[in-house]
Amino acid sequence: MEENINNLDQLENDKKAKSSFISHDLLISTKSELQNIEILKFITYLPELLKPSIEQSIYHKIEEVVFELMKTPEKLDDESMINKLINITNERVDLDRAVFKSKSEDIKKFIALLMKEYENSLLLSDNSSSKLEIFKNDLESLEISEHSNRELRILHAKLADLIYNIETNLDDSKVQLKKGKETCSKLEKNIVKLQDDLEKLKIEKDIDFLTGALNRRGYTSVILKVENRFVTFNSNYAIIFIDIDNFKEINDENGHECGDVILKSFSTILKKLMREEDVLCRYGGEEFVILVSYTEEEEVYKYIKRVKEIIDSHKFIYNKDLRVKVGFSAGVAYRTKYNSYEDAMKYADILLYKAKHEGKSRIIFDNSKVLV
Ligand code: GH3
Ligand code: MG
Ligand code: MG
Repeated sequence: MEENINNLDQLENDKKAKSSFISHDLLISTKSELQNIEILKFITYLPELLKPSIEQSIYHKIEEVVFELMKTPEKLDDESMINKLINITNERVDLDRAVFKSKSEDIKKFIALLMKEYENSLLLSDNSSSKLEIFKNDLESLEISEHSNRELRILHAKLADLIYNIETNLDDSKVQLKKGKETCSKLEKNIVKLQDDLEKLKIEKDIDFLTGALNRRGYTSVILKVENRFVTFNSNYAIIFIDIDNFKEINDENGHECGDVILKSFSTILKKLMREEDVLCRYGGEEFVILVSYTEEEEVYKYIKRVKEIIDSHKFIYNKDLRVKVGFSAGVAYRTKYNSYEDAMKYADILLYKAKHEGKSRIIFDNSKVLV
């Protein structure tokens, strides 16, 4: 019974065993046939061996070579064919590497972008530390296969570094941010206070410190507004010039401080009796100007009459027991009778002078009325 021969070694052994009854020529021919079968088997495996894992563009080249070898297997012995196979293999490896590199570059870019966004959201969020911890754990548990490109491993390491840096910088940033916020709120408070002070200063510049009435400066701007209303809307107003009688004497007899208290109380009476839209100004030492709006001239008359009644029936109290009697004189001009407010003011002043001249404690109107 003849044994099965599967390879060349078995064939060699078999050769020795059977040399006694098998001719040498027959043996040679059997060996070469077997070799041919092995080579053809090998050639059919070639496409599988050379086939690129990623880049497919050189697949047709491999097919051509395999086809050529199938037709003429003996070419496998040619140096040129062997070089061809080596070149194809190298080309295949290079192409795969290039494709893989560009893919990992893309991944790198994508991850870099993600990290930037992540970093921003970390800095903005309140629970950034716990978020960072979760991300760190995710990164640590990320398993990168042994077969992955070296670049991915480097990227993984870089990400871990980046997380570490963010972690250490985050605390500093938070401290800086807190400090910045505190400084900002302090500055904000200062600005609000400065604005308040400025507003007060603006008002104080126009207000008389002692009486709270407008001062001369405030009056100059307010009269222009009143005048403008008169010209545009025909809103009538009268100008009353007031001067306290014998004020020097009051000061001399009761002291300057007492004089101050009287000025203040006098001003309060004038203010309390006038309407909101009317204007009170301390024009000088013991002189006041009042702008009284009216529809009927009688309204102005009634106002100043009421003031006179109160002042005349009133004694100003100073230091609890000191009671001082005060009188005043006034001139009243109705704006509508003059070409300009300046003329009206001049005339009111003339009438005041006239009141003084005619015995004080009286009010003279430009419509010839007199209140004594
Ligand atoms: P007449 O009746 O003619 O107006 O006499 P008068 O004494 O009121 O007028 P005069 O102009 O002679 O004196 C005004 C006085 O008012 C002199 C001044 O010391 C006083 N005076 C001016 N401003 C103030 C002030 O703010 N406080 C005090 N206490 N007195 C002042
Ligand atoms: Mg005076
Ligand atoms: Mg006076």
